Amino acid sequence: MSQMPQKQRTCPNCGGSDRYATKVSAGGGYAPNYLPGLNTKWWGTTKFDVVACARCGLTQFFVPEESRAKLPLSKYWTPI
Ligand SMILES: [Zn+2]
Repeated sequence: MSQMPQKQRTCPNCGGSDRYATKVSAGGGYAPNYLPGLNTKWWGTTKFDVVACARCGLTQFFVPEESRAKLPLSKYWTPI
């Protein structure tokens, strides 16, 4: 499936369609940085795209689209 996970209409856990999206800081500075090396701007921090299901509470974190191209180039990330 080529569709982006956060664009899926239904929750992969419960099948519910009542899902919500937001952006939250991935940290850095004095907080742990959960997306090291993926900042696309010299200021600010990278933000997760977060999707939560209102039915079962499943919460998913996604690297934002603009940062994904940096994954293969970053010394902080290892292909698995
Ligand atoms: Zn759900």
